[in-house]
Amino acid sequence: MKTYRDFDRYMKDFPDKNGYFGQYGGAFLPPQLVPVFEEITDSYHKICHSAHFISELRRIRREFQGRPTPVYNCERLSRQIGNSQIYLKREDLNHTGAHKINHCMGEGLLAKFMGKKKLIAETGAGQHGVALATAAAYFGLECDIYMGEVDIAKQHPNVVRMKMLGANVIPATHGLKTLKEAVDAAFEGYMKEYEHSIYCIGSVVGPHPFPMMVRDFQAVVGFEAKEQFVAMTGALPDVVCASVGGGSNALGIFEAFLPEPVEIVGVEPGGRGNNVGDHAASMTYGKKGVLHGFESMLLQDENGEPQTVYSIASGLDYPSVGPEHAYLHECGRVQYDVISDEEAMEAFFFLCRYEGIIPAIESAHALAYALRRARAGDAGTILVNLSGRGDKDIDYIYEKYGTGEQFF
Ligand SMILES: *Cc1c(COP(=O)(O)O)cnc(C)c1O
Repeated sequence: MKTYRDFDRYMKDFPDKNGYFGQYGGAFLPPQLVPVFEEITDSYHKICHSAHFISELRRIRREFQGRPTPVYNCERLSRQIGNSQIYLKREDLNHTGAHKINHCMGEGLLAKFMGKKKLIAETGAGQHGVALATAAAYFGLECDIYMGEVDIAKQHPNVVRMKMLGANVIPATHGLKTLKEAVDAAFEGYMKEYEHSIYCIGSVVGPHPFPMMVRDFQAVVGFEAKEQFVAMTGALPDVVCASVGGGSNALGIFEAFLPEPVEIVGVEPGGRGNNVGDHAASMTYGKKGVLHGFESMLLQDENGEPQTVYSIASGLDYPSVGPEHAYLHECGRVQYDVISDEEAMEAFFFLCRYEGIIPAIESAHALAYALRRARAGDAGTILVNLSGRGDKDIDYIYEKYGTGEQFF
């Protein structure tokens, strides 16, 4: 494990001014958007350090979002598995039910301070769209959410939520009509009206400054958790883990622990096997490449085209990963491991049955890793980022797995 002295100035030095974390990151943009992203970077640096912005964001987190979220010791679950104490950082208790609201409220407040009128984004399963539509309603901003036609049909409840919150849901009708096409369409839409709008990316991905901004807005999770955990137990956790799709909830809880002697693990979706198209474990099986305006680990074919990915958790099925993760992996500070659909489902039902908490399938991946470590018996205390609640998943799970009797 790297010692903490290497990370003393970490948050200040990473990314560098061009948006690089070591050899990963950057901003690969069409020429007309280069000055636009520079403007966002400059405004962010100015605004985000102002006392007014900071106190507004703190107030919003406390009064609107429900922060701080608690840290909870899963005593019953830990007893069942034996050997370790498992703790959860309850990001599922945020308003709208997941961590995504942490960066959406930050991006919305930034837009407001910059004098923008509209928030623009893409969404896959609709979770980011709902969180951003919530932020737009809160700040009185317009909101355009681009979504693949196929996803619109599949994710009906989230489409209805976004519309009720006042957002325009704009279908992406070309290609496979899913997330990738939604990103293309959202960028096209943004290019037409960037003067009065801001693009809000849904994770620690995309061109600089988004991996940095989203990370900074999410870092509250780890800073709260560290203080709460030490207050509860008198010590730091042995292991901190989180699920990694793009990587925002993971970086959110990781950052505060980077300088500490704590093992940090990112959990990737192993899906139904390690063949191409059966998983979305970009760090484990990917190679360096460029997608969506940034360079990172990418699941790609010989031509550099992104491969098809799969996970039971729609929030995790992205063929790349935030550039900061690629850096933290390369320098050995953070380990990455893989959890299959089946392992995640076992953890899902265990948390329901032993603790009375229905987790998001994404978050169940992180919990499954904690169960694996508890069974191995080599970790005393494990802190899991429970990134979201599972209400959105129950119909699908019930159809496929019933009430989970097979896991007990
Ligand atoms: C979107 C989502 C994720 C995955 O996104 P990250 O950027 O990797 O955090 C994980 N958990 C929940 C509940 C989500 O909604």
